[in-house]
Amino acid sequence: MTSQSTAKTTAKTPTPDRIRRAPKVLLHDHLDGGLRPGTVVELARATGYQGLPETDADRLGVWFRQAADSGSLERYLETFSHTVGVMQTRDALVRVAAECAEDLAEDGVVYAEVRYAPEQHLEGGLSLEEVVEAVDEGFREGERRARDNGHRIRVGALLTAMRHAARSLEIAELANRYRDLGGGGVVGFDIAGAEAGYPPTRHLDAFEYLKRENNHFTIHAGEAFGLPSIWQALQWCGADRLGHGVRIIDDIQVHEDGTVKLGRLASYVRDKRIPLELCPSSNLQTGAADSYAEHPIGLLRRLHFRATVNTDNRLMSHTSMSREFEHLVDAFGYTLDDMQWFSVNAMKSAFIPFDERLAMINDVIKPGYAELKSEWLFQ
Ligand SMILES: [Zn+2]
Repeated sequence: MTSQSTAKTTAKTPTPDRIRRAPKVLLHDHLDGGLRPGTVVELARATGYQGLPETDADRLGVWFRQAADSGSLERYLETFSHTVGVMQTRDALVRVAAECAEDLAEDGVVYAEVRYAPEQHLEGGLSLEEVVEAVDEGFREGERRARDNGHRIRVGALLTAMRHAARSLEIAELANRYRDLGGGGVVGFDIAGAEAGYPPTRHLDAFEYLKRENNHFTIHAGEAFGLPSIWQALQWCGADRLGHGVRIIDDIQVHEDGTVKLGRLASYVRDKRIPLELCPSSNLQTGAADSYAEHPIGLLRRLHFRATVNTDNRLMSHTSMSREFEHLVDAFGYTLDDMQWFSVNAMKSAFIPFDERLAMINDVIKPGYAELKSEWLFQ
């Protein structure tokens, strides 16, 4: 009896090793937020970039984390000026993209949509097209290297436009043009940057264009800023997914007796199965939650929102998909079944064609978890 129940608990317990080996799906990850510290140092040297606060890789890694943790928006933004600063040549973009795919694959990610803003990589004289082609080449190279190391991963790109700039239609057109690249290609579009003062409706022409082209997009909304931003992203702009969307919690009342009441917007998000690209560690750094245990993902998962787990900026948040899940397992006691639920949610919400998503779920994700969950039988 006891041995049986022990077997049952250990069967689904996500140890760090199992978490890493479990097939994971990542929808919200910034290319300029995931560089290896050593690569930043080497690229700075190779491209003549001045102004890194540290030239030792380990110390630079710590500096990135501390700046992101500081609570100062200025210091947080400074971290990106350095990563973007060293990503201004073709070779640098290829390398960063290849290492991104390699690192994700090593961490057990089987499908990823990685985003970047082409307009931020033009200082070295590249055109928007050259930026997209370099990153694409890097992703394909990273996929190949991963395969050589026994890992399988597919990486698609999301092209981001900056909300404070005025190039969103141009970037949307670029995303549409590069939609049919081989491999993962460019699978969609995104808007990022400071929410306050820059509502997504400023970029309506870009969203309307993409809708006319039957293309997909997500919008950073409801991260620090509240419900109006989420409402605009969905009801004015027609976003397929919400980047973060964590403030949807403001439209959910939890009563003392444990009953829950959803407002109209929260109901809409749940009923329409709008994917929430939640990024727990990043949210803690920006103050959207005080601890993992208090992060709204616990409630949103219980209420069966289409919640997904994401990294946002692996370098600045010193994280990975496995680390995010380790934190959630600690905070909420999640099992491999919960991890599978998040991973299937994310795969359902990806921007690649339905038949490919279905095959990923049925032929890669579910068998992967079944394998992990059955290990106890053979111990
Ligand atoms: Zn983001």
